[in-house]
Amino acid sequence: MAFDVDLFVIGAGSGGVRAARIAAGHGAKTIVAEESRIGGTCVIRGCVPKKLYVYASRFADEFADAAGFGWTVGETRFDWPSLVAAKEKEITRLSAAYRANLAASGAELIEQRASIVGPHRVRLASGREVSARHVLIATGSRPTLHPEIEGFEHAITSNEIFDLPVFPKRLMVVGGGYIAVEFASLMQRLGAQVTEVMRGTNVLRGFDEDMRAGVRDAMLRAGVAFRFGSLPKRIEKLRDGTRRVALSDGHTIEVDLVLAATGRHPYTEGLGLESVGVKLSSHAAILVDKELTSNVPWLHAVGDVTDHVNLTPVAIREGHALADRLFGAGARAIRYDTVASVVFGTPELGAVGMTESEATVRLEKFEVYEANFRPMKATLSGSGERAIMKLIVDGATQKVLGAHILAENAGEMIQLVALAMTMNATKDDFDATVAVHPTAAEELVTMRKPSRRYDGGEWMA
Ligand code: NDP
Repeated sequence: MAFDVDLFVIGAGSGGVRAARIAAGHGAKTIVAEESRIGGTCVIRGCVPKKLYVYASRFADEFADAAGFGWTVGETRFDWPSLVAAKEKEITRLSAAYRANLAASGAELIEQRASIVGPHRVRLASGREVSARHVLIATGSRPTLHPEIEGFEHAITSNEIFDLPVFPKRLMVVGGGYIAVEFASLMQRLGAQVTEVMRGTNVLRGFDEDMRAGVRDAMLRAGVAFRFGSLPKRIEKLRDGTRRVALSDGHTIEVDLVLAATGRHPYTEGLGLESVGVKLSSHAAILVDKELTSNVPWLHAVGDVTDHVNLTPVAIREGHALADRLFGAGARAIRYDTVASVVFGTPELGAVGMTESEATVRLEKFEVYEANFRPMKATLSGSGERAIMKLIVDGATQKVLGAHILAENAGEMIQLVALAMTMNATKDDFDATVAVHPTAAEELVTMRKPSRRYDGGEWMA
C-alpha cells in the first residue's frame, strides 16, 4: 500500500521534533503537525523559561551574599515585565531555531491540530487527510486541573505563570513536586511572599529523604512558608482581585494568586486514539512497549504522553531511538536507570539512581556515604546554606547505584555522576579519582567511610 508519508508526527515538542528530524535525515518523508507554538512545553512554558527565571531569582542571594565579601550593594529593584519581555525574546528565538532545524532536515511542518481518523489516516484541522505508514504521538502532557475545588477557575497553572501581567506579592503554590518547589523558590526570591500548600508532610515525594529535608530547610531559610497536610477547598476572588483560599485544615489565607502545580497528565484527549483501538493506561497515557510502539503496530508514542519518565531529554532520546529503529540502522538502547534529574531550587537538587529507601527494597546489602557541609562561599557570606551529598553503593558489586546532591550547581555535577554511573563506576573508581580543589564536587570522590551499612534487612554503623 502506498502512503502519502512515511512518518506523521503529532506534536512539535522536544520528542516529536527530534523524531521528525532524524527520520527525515534517514530519508523518510515526514510531516510534523503542531497546534501551538513550535518547541513544546519545555521551550515555551517549561524548562527553558523556568531556568531563565531561576537565574533572575538568584541575584537576590548574590546581592545579600556580597556584603560578606566586602561589597556594598546599592538599592536593588526587580522589574517583572522586563524579565517577561527578555524571556519572550529568547523563547521566540529558540522556537524559530526549532522551526529552522526542522526545515533543514527536510521534514514538513504543518501548524494545525491533527487527529487520527482511521488506520494510518490523520486529519488536519483544515480537513486535509494524510495517509502515513507510521504515526508518532508526541503531544506531551498538560497541567492537571482540579474542578472539585470550588472556585478553581481563580487559580492558574504553570502555563500562565510565565506571562503574568502583574507580579504577585502574595503567592500560594499548591503541590510539593518539581514545579511547585521550583516556582516557590524562585518567586520568593523575586520578592513574593510564598505559601506552599501540599497534602504530604514534605516536599518532593520520591526523592531521598535527607535531600527532601534539605530542600525544605533551604526554602524555609529563603522565607517560604509551608502548610503541610493541607489543600485548598474553596478559592474566592474578591473585588480587588485578592484570592481568599479556604484550606482543608480550617485556615483561610488571602493571596494575590494561586498557582496549582499538582502534576501533569498525558495529553491524549481528542486525538482519535479510540477510533483505532489504542490502549491507554488508567491515567490516559498511551501504553507502549520497549520499542515505543502501542498495541497498534503503526502507532508509536514518546515522551510525557506515555507517562513513563517525564523529562525532556528522555523524550528526545526516545524520539531519536524510534526514528533510528523505523528508518535507520536500528536504535541504541535507552538506559533509564541512570537518567538524572534536577529540581532547580536554590540550591539545586540533583539525583540519579536509587534513593536510600529504594535501596532497602531492591538491594540485599548496601552502604551509604554522606557529606553534609557548609559550602566555602557560605563561610564569608554567612548565608546558612548547607550542601548535602549522598552515594548509595551496592554491597555485592561496589557499584554506585544512587547519587544525590543538594548544592549550588548540583545540576552540573549530577550530569557527570550519571556518566560515571552509566559506565558502571564502582566506589573504588570514585576513590581512585583525584579531587579538584577547592570545589564542592570533590566531596564526591573523598567520602572515605560509610555512615551506615544495610545488610539483610539490618542497619549497621
Ligand atoms: P510532580 O509529580 O512532581 O508533583 C505533583 C505534586 O502534586 C505532588 O506534590 C503531589 O502530591 C501533588 N498532587 C498530585 N495530585 C494531587 C491531588 N489530586 N491533590 C493534591 N495534590 C496532588 O508534578 P509537577 O506538576 O510538579 O511536575 C510535572 C512533571 O513535570 C514532573 O513529574 C516532572 O516529570 C516534570 N518536570 C520536571 C522538571 C525538572 O526536571 N526540573 C521541572 C518541572 C517539571 P503527592 O506527592 O502527595 O502525590
